[in-house]
Amino acid sequence: MKAGIHPNYNKTVVTCACGNTFESGSVKKEIRIETCSECHPFYTGRQKFAEAGGRVDKFNKKYGMKAQQ
Ligand SMILES: [Zn+2]
Repeated sequence: MKAGIHPNYNKTVVTCACGNTFESGSVKKEIRIETCSECHPFYTGRQKFAEAGGRVDKFNKKYGMKAQQ
């Protein structure tokens, strides 16, 4: 294995748009993401993304259904 051809694999601070931060391994020093396991609807059960989308809302209105909570 030659020296210098492999990027340094460091601990990286990942910052989410929700304010949550956690450590991960990456060659980058800092990572910013919009969704993490703390705020993603899949994990939290919240549906803020679906509600904000509008498309789902239109669909629900068209078919007379309310968004599932
Ligand atoms: Zn988050």
